[in-house]
Amino acid sequence: MKPALFDYIVPATLAEALGLLHDLEQDGVDVKVMAGGQSLMPLMNMRLAMPAAVIDLNGLEGELGYLYREGDTLRIGALTRHYQLEDSPVIAQDCPVIGEAESLIGHPQIRSRGTIGGSLCHADPSAELPLIFTLLDGRVTLNSVDGERVVGPADFFLSYLMTQVSATEIATEVRLPALPAGAGQAIEEFSPRHGDFAIAAVACQVALDAQGRLAAARLAVGGASSTPKDVSDVLNAHQGERLTDDLAKSVLDKVTSLIDPLDDLHATAQYRLDLVRALGRSAIAKASQRARGQVPGKRR
Ligand SMILES: Cc1cc2nc3c(=O)[nH]c(=O)nc-3n(C[C@H](O)[C@H](O)[C@H](O)COP(=O)(O)OP(=O)(O)OC[C@H]3O[C@@H](n4cnc5c(N)ncnc54)[C@H](O)[C@@H]3O)c2cc1C
Repeated sequence: MKPALFDYIVPATLAEALGLLHDLEQDGVDVKVMAGGQSLMPLMNMRLAMPAAVIDLNGLEGELGYLYREGDTLRIGALTRHYQLEDSPVIAQDCPVIGEAESLIGHPQIRSRGTIGGSLCHADPSAELPLIFTLLDGRVTLNSVDGERVVGPADFFLSYLMTQVSATEIATEVRLPALPAGAGQAIEEFSPRHGDFAIAAVACQVALDAQGRLAAARLAVGGASSTPKDVSDVLNAHQGERLTDDLAKSVLDKVTSLIDPLDDLHATAQYRLDLVRALGRSAIAKASQRARGQVPGKRR
């Protein structure tokens, strides 16, 4: 199918893009910004979205395509593409779960265009980067002509494909904490075919103390509710304990009591709960092995 007719505008700077967005909104024009176009264009081609105007952000790559570490924080411009995160030595060293998640997203063609900002703003609850953003309790900067605000995952994701981003805002930067020394991370997901969206996914980060006991944890579930779910508290309740498989099982029993997954044509709710248990055990085990340095290359 082909999209409905729309005006196509390519600003050269962020300031120009924000001004255009503001002016078009004031004039009552239904306008959408486009980053990689890997979610927006299929929706437009199927006429599930029919904006009257599209502001293409790709002219802003110089301003919004960057990635560097500043102190303990990774600063990632919203137009940074999936493949750039997947291939980045900074990511491999300082937050390897991002690279691991990227390798699970679609196919190389999609990863060569799709962006981190677009992935968060599209807010598919099965998508990998929203899960990682939730896992690491990241921050996204939203700019408009009126200034900027910084939002965390609990406020950013409202529901299935719905976020805090207003019609006059552009996401400009994503900040994620670097992997703490001695910690390990992992993401596990199940999808029917490689490259499909996950039916369920679990991501985990654990830090162990010198005796190998749990010192701090992050745990998040994707694909099982309308937004990715932060369930870190359930695992953190066991700080000071050894992270055995039995402990992981009881943590995941509690986690599954906190989520109410969808029944849809892809999977039943019960199947998703079973997946969360199985994937969660594997993610927790892998993250703690990596924290112990048992999986080469994944621990600083
Ligand atoms: C066949 C196929 C398979 C895929 N499989 C997966 C998968 O397994 N996992 C996965 O996570 N994703 C998958 N995707 C989606 C892909 O990851 C997209 O890159 C991502 O969802 C959207 O990023 P984008 O940059 O292409 O955004 P776009 O498609 O350009 O935009 C998506 C939405 O975000 C808004 N938006 C974009 N950038 C900004 C911004 N900076 N500020 C404000 N709003 C913005 C747009 O207005 C639009 O509403 C798949 C896509 C395809 C076509």
